[in-house]
Amino acid sequence: MKLIRNIKGIVAFSRQARLKGKSIGFVPTMGALHMGHLSLIKKSKKENDITIVSIFVNPIQFASGEDLKRYPRDLKNDALLCRKSGVDAIFCPQVKSFYPQGYKTYVQVEGLSDHLCGRFRPGHFRGVTTVVAKLFNLVSPDTAYFGQKDAQQALIIQKMAEDLNMPVKIRVLPTVRHKDGLAMSSRNAYLTKEERRDARVLYQALSCARALVRQGKKNVAQIIQQVKSIINKKKSARIQYVLFVDTQDLEPISRIKSPVLLALSVYIGKTRLIDNIVI
Ligand code: AMP
Repeated sequence: MKLIRNIKGIVAFSRQARLKGKSIGFVPTMGALHMGHLSLIKKSKKENDITIVSIFVNPIQFASGEDLKRYPRDLKNDALLCRKSGVDAIFCPQVKSFYPQGYKTYVQVEGLSDHLCGRFRPGHFRGVTTVVAKLFNLVSPDTAYFGQKDAQQALIIQKMAEDLNMPVKIRVLPTVRHKDGLAMSSRNAYLTKEERRDARVLYQALSCARALVRQGKKNVAQIIQQVKSIINKKKSARIQYVLFVDTQDLEPISRIKSPVLLALSVYIGKTRLIDNIVI
């Protein structure tokens, strides 16, 4: 497995693979890898000759006051996991060379970026689409793999790739959860023992909503009220949003239809967690 830190290196590696006629699967991450990331890597391995993983805590997707500085970083363990999973190359650029002084170009998907998390994290998705567009240019993947855990991000990236005619197929894979339902996330590492217990409530609340919809309940406001009341029972929980939205344009809906995306963002203590299900 190659550990590539510079731009020239990743371009050369990808070009070599292409010259040999190999297909490239790409998994962009911010590191602190867990089973969610590994599920994407596994699928990429299955579907491509070469798998490249990027590990880059992208500063421009964090607003000031967010957790950029303390975001978990553990390249040694990440490299170990990647090697075990049969990854061919890790690309982990330095911020200075990725965004050199005078950097001025940004990619923004309008509309989709304004809903859900976009309302509370202005500039976040502009940072995400910019980094992913740059990574796509460097890696030239045939297929790139994303998690449904970040449903809005996945939709935005699909739209970007489509609108900008990027020659890459976007695959979105299911959310990997702990046994108790909590979606795996690098940010779970911030939780205290007690908070970790409370965090189970996110998936419990989502599951309750799914049951209500399946029973035929159609009133969005009532279901959201139920979800909120389940979450609010936990002392450490503070809801940012709970919304039913259209699975394609992310516009809020007022009556349940199928399929529908139920997405939520909740602070557990100081840790902001997101989760969603498609019903
Ligand atoms: P991150 O390192 O958090 O930026 O995530 C990198 C990729 O892994 C993104 O496409 C995420 O959606 C995906 N991912 C993160 N957590 C999970 C999970 N629990 N299940 C599936 N995919 C995930």
